[in-house]
Amino acid sequence: MNPVAIIGAGITGLTAAFCLKRKGIPVTVYEAAARPGGVIQSVRKDGFLAESGPNTILETSPKISQLIGDLNLEGRRLYSSPDAEARFVVRGKRPMAMPGSPLGIFTSRLLSAKAKLALLREPFVPPRRDGGEESVADFVERRLNREILERLVDALVAGIYAGDPYNLSLQHALPKLARLEQKYGSLIKGQIRGARERRESGDVAKDRAPKFSFDEGLQVLPDTLAARLGKDVKLNAAVTYLAPTGPDWRVTTAAGHSEHSAVIYCGTAWRLAELQLSARASTDLSSFSAIRYAPVASVVLGFPRGDVAHPCRGFGMLIPKIEGFSILGTIFSSALFPNRAPASHVLLTSYIGGERSPGLASLPADELELLTCRDLGRLLGVKGDPVFRHTAVYPRAIPQYNVGYGKFKHLMNEIESKLHGLFFAGHFRDGVSLGDSILSGCNVAERLEGFLK
Ligand SMILES: Cc1cc2nc3c(=O)[nH]c(=O)nc-3n(C[C@H](O)[C@H](O)[C@H](O)COP(=O)(O)OP(=O)(O)OC[C@H]3O[C@@H](n4cnc5c(N)ncnc54)[C@H](O)[C@@H]3O)c2cc1C
Repeated sequence: MNPVAIIGAGITGLTAAFCLKRKGIPVTVYEAAARPGGVIQSVRKDGFLAESGPNTILETSPKISQLIGDLNLEGRRLYSSPDAEARFVVRGKRPMAMPGSPLGIFTSRLLSAKAKLALLREPFVPPRRDGGEESVADFVERRLNREILERLVDALVAGIYAGDPYNLSLQHALPKLARLEQKYGSLIKGQIRGARERRESGDVAKDRAPKFSFDEGLQVLPDTLAARLGKDVKLNAAVTYLAPTGPDWRVTTAAGHSEHSAVIYCGTAWRLAELQLSARASTDLSSFSAIRYAPVASVVLGFPRGDVAHPCRGFGMLIPKIEGFSILGTIFSSALFPNRAPASHVLLTSYIGGERSPGLASLPADELELLTCRDLGRLLGVKGDPVFRHTAVYPRAIPQYNVGYGKFKHLMNEIESKLHGLFFAGHFRDGVSLGDSILSGCNVAERLEGFLK
């Protein structure tokens, strides 16, 4: 049997390859870049550990812990500090603690009395049943109110998607909320009743799932997967052309052609649009170029503890657009995990750009750092120059599951059923978090095993 070709050595492709190899199915992973991991990139420098891309994995499913166990990485996994549970949302130019329990929202000053009343009314708002896509903003205004949209939901979707709630599709970007409305008629009723179902399935809600990384950052995970796969991972090997050749597939890179029993595409949507398929496949992939990715710059700065007035005890702060800052939010990295900063120092990871202000993400590093320092000064009382800086720009960071995204998912399903042996997985199909990508990799391996049988 020819090996299965896996295109992309991000976390999705590596997970899929590892799962298949454990089942005895041979694989070849093709990666365009010179290193595995995709957007995951941890950098150790001057006693600090910066994450350019993602910072934490949410352990939402037993399959995620299983993967860590299979890789013998339990000893290197670090759960976030229990002191780092608090989340802050900026209101009135100050970070305010998010209430720790749903009832706490009623005593907090994060929302006005009018918004709290809207929460109490939510179970009585009739559900929409027409089945069409709706923007996150329309949904929140329909079931809750504008203040909750502008003060909380806007900040939340900036944190997950670097996205715009007026464009994001509720059904694709926040499918759990759409399901709660469809199944229980209300978010609040669904939140209460859904807990029992999650207990039975072993799944954990994202807001309650444990968060983890590793002693040397998230890069440990793709590095370990790639080491286990060994010579089955080909780096600097961009796939440019795919051709179905009867039962098999021919995969072309600059190094030549290889025959494969099936192909799993785990790259990005824009590179999928550039991939050429042979005329025999009579399929055009160019429409995937319409999937928008938000540009994001991550600015990681280290300061002496004494230069930061805020205690920075917690996960971090989210900033709604209405507050008028340049940064979208900040993770209190050195509070989350040990060894992120030398003793008596603080490490802060801030994000700039997104759909809120895409132009900012392409500013030069020194300007991005200046904007970040200015905002951190006003919000956290940071003074003086950073003693550590690491800035990375992702011109196409996170796919936007905007209204109309259903047509792309439909197209992927259609191509998979037309072109036997070609599969799609990853962040542009199954959810944008690392946990979603790991599950996407596990699930596509199962689908592929079924196909080969
Ligand atoms: C700045 C940032 C912060 C984030 N923070 C978090 C977080 O804290 N927690 C969280 O859960 N998620 C976070 N995410 C999201 C999460 O990191 C990603 O969704 C996830 O890593 C995507 O993995 P992937 O394997 O699907 O894609 P990618 O990581 O994009 O990997 C795709 C790989 O495919 C390769 N490729 C593409 N086309 C080809 C081709 N033709 N031939 C060969 N190779 C190809 C690419 O080079 C790339 O290496 C963040 C993302 C970003 C950008």
